[in-house]
Amino acid sequence: MADRHADALLIGGGAASHACAVALRERGFSGSVLLVGRELDPPYDRPPCSKEYLRGERERPATYLSLPGDVDVLTRTSVMKLDAAARVARLSTKEEVSYGCALLATGANVRRLPVDGAQLDGVHYLRALGNADAIREDAEGLGPARREAVVVGGSYLGTELAASLTLMGKRVTVLMQEDVPLERAYGRRAGEWFQARLEREGVTFVGGESLAGFAGDDEERVTEVLTSGGRSLPARMVVVAAGAVPDVMVAKAAGLEIGPMGGVRCDASLRVIGAEGLWAAGDMCEWESPLHGGPARVEHWEVAAGHGRTAAAGMCGEPVEHAEVPYFWSDVADWVTSEYVGVVGPEGWDREALRGSFESGAFSMWYLRGERLVGALSVRRGDDLDEARRLIASGERVTPQDLERP
Ligand SMILES: Cc1cc2nc3c(=O)[nH]c(=O)nc-3n(C[C@H](O)[C@H](O)[C@H](O)COP(=O)(O)OP(=O)(O)OC[C@H]3O[C@@H](n4cnc5c(N)ncnc54)[C@H](O)[C@@H]3O)c2cc1C
Repeated sequence: MADRHADALLIGGGAASHACAVALRERGFSGSVLLVGRELDPPYDRPPCSKEYLRGERERPATYLSLPGDVDVLTRTSVMKLDAAARVARLSTKEEVSYGCALLATGANVRRLPVDGAQLDGVHYLRALGNADAIREDAEGLGPARREAVVVGGSYLGTELAASLTLMGKRVTVLMQEDVPLERAYGRRAGEWFQARLEREGVTFVGGESLAGFAGDDEERVTEVLTSGGRSLPARMVVVAAGAVPDVMVAKAAGLEIGPMGGVRCDASLRVIGAEGLWAAGDMCEWESPLHGGPARVEHWEVAAGHGRTAAAGMCGEPVEHAEVPYFWSDVADWVTSEYVGVVGPEGWDREALRGSFESGAFSMWYLRGERLVGALSVRRGDDLDEARRLIASGERVTPQDLERP
């Protein structure tokens, strides 16, 4: 006999669980809803961790997301074990919770790089509010005399961190495997534009090299970042932004199927394959996506929230296929906001089209695979994304010439 029953149990306290809880109530779900999250905080807005919150421009409570009052929330509590057949979860408090339906939304963890010196003081990773606190305290504690900071990784998180740390008074170098930042997501041409934009603000880039290790002083504090090309970059602090790994620990232990992209396998309506009454959402969900034409796993805030809403529809007995074109935005300080929609999978794209111009700082890049649009990036041309969404969803044939003309 379980200690407690929830008609809907939401496992994980992030964007996906939050959106699912809100959508359940909006759809008139009248049963009990219990959200269990292992962090110290209730569900919060994670993207500011590399932006306003990191820079101390937003207070912690202002990041909290509001939930309907009749949703029970347990913080600092993990789901340790899930028996999907019996529909019972075991919590870190030793309580057992039986459920009618459940959402698995355990998100992702940072990808750690196991190099020499990784344990030194001043080497940071960023996923949660607590990590942002530690980075801010370290940056402030070093003071203006010890300004050198290195960010490892040239993705959106790396560029956001480089911008925030620069605003916090640091002299930032970005070390990345790509030749230019954001190349994997936005391609070489757009990446070069972002690099030039950040260089104008004083950020230095070291591209085409990997992290080889860290060296430190007698006090066990980092002093240098060592690269695969034999360079030594002075560093009083380091933030490693080398990607995320879906957190499928509970799913794996429950015997659920893990897909080729490392997420828990779901059908197009986000029902977990082989487990009645169980849905998955967010960074750890690998779903059969009609728009991608196969399995997809995406780490974007709006996708996680959209997944939560799709799962809620299913829990209310009104299943729908999850077919929203994934949307992503990134703020590089207030210097550049980029927005992106796309269904680019491992195959990537083979042609690009540019609308507007890099010189004007207002442009959109369109990414095609064959004659199909698979992605679009906008900088100060947000209206283009509506057209991009429509073309991506319809699969209409287009050429780069069609796209260069509004
Ligand atoms: C610093 C940072 C900045 C970002 N900025 C942007 C941005 O600008 N734009 C954008 O689109 N996306 C951004 N993202 C990505 C976005 O935040 C994620 O895609 C989104 O948070 C995923 O939501 P989720 O609910 O799947 O997982 P998460 O937000 O990771 O939430 C999962 C939660 O579940 C908890 N959990 C895990 N296992 C258990 C368990 N067994 N029991 C209980 N709880 C558990 C975790 O601790 C975590 O709190 C950013 C991410 C980071 C880290």
